[in-house]
Amino acid sequence: MYSVAVVGGGVSGLSCALTLADGARRFDFAKGKKFLVVDSGNSDVLKAVLNNVPGVKKGTTGEEYLEFLKAQVEEFEDVNLVEGEVSEVTGSKGNFKIVLSDGREFKADFVVFATGFHSFDVKTDLVEVIPHPRSPRPGKIALKPKAEGVYVAGLAAGEITMVATAAGSGVDVACEILSEWAGKVVVGHDRISG
Ligand SMILES: Cc1cc2nc3c(=O)[nH]c(=O)nc-3n(C[C@H](O)[C@H](O)[C@H](O)COP(=O)(O)OP(=O)(O)OC[C@H]3O[C@@H](n4cnc5c(N)ncnc54)[C@H](O)[C@@H]3O)c2cc1C
Repeated sequence: MYSVAVVGGGVSGLSCALTLADGARRFDFAKGKKFLVVDSGNSDVLKAVLNNVPGVKKGTTGEEYLEFLKAQVEEFEDVNLVEGEVSEVTGSKGNFKIVLSDGREFKADFVVFATGFHSFDVKTDLVEVIPHPRSPRPGKIALKPKAEGVYVAGLAAGEITMVATAAGSGVDVACEILSEWAGKVVVGHDRISG
């Protein structure tokens, strides 16, 4: 049983998992929580060369960026990164069932959809598919959560199509979930000692 299952491990999904796992390490209320990320390997950033991402060296390929982000997440043993395609999500807060196209099944208390803006093929009643509000190209989609315990991050949440906004959206969703567990607003900050 996972505390949070993230569907989609591109920019926003991995950013969400990183912030959740960091929260589980720093906050007592999140200790022992486990996180799942399922990704089918088609992040848009894999097609990019990054010359305008804040804090990222000019010319970094999207592949290099994603590998670095993945390595950051893999430092946390409470995150399970799974390669695969989610085909169905059912259930309700505290008891979601995530089914993969190869038949594997996982359970989670919360679910985050971070599936990008191209299409949405997951069988579920938990989100509504709507036109993407801010895509530079027509025909793109976004998702609207329809149930408690369901969150959407990145381009799937209607964000503008930039790495920084997608990452920020994933972080924002993670902080919302951490804050729900804490019963107050929480963020993860460290300071230089001395
Ligand atoms: C050619 C190109 C160049 C770009 N250049 C720049 C740039 O220079 N600067 C910049 O800021 N941004 C750039 N971008 C935009 C940037 O890549 C996106 O904004 C960012 O990747 C969006 O993050 P996301 O997490 O919302 O979606 P993605 O990173 O696309 O991640 C979505 C993930 O969900 C997975 N997924 C989908 N459905 C399922 C499922 N059912 N089960 C499991 N996994 C699933 C996909 O495989 C994918 O890995 C560029 C994009 C492209 C295409």
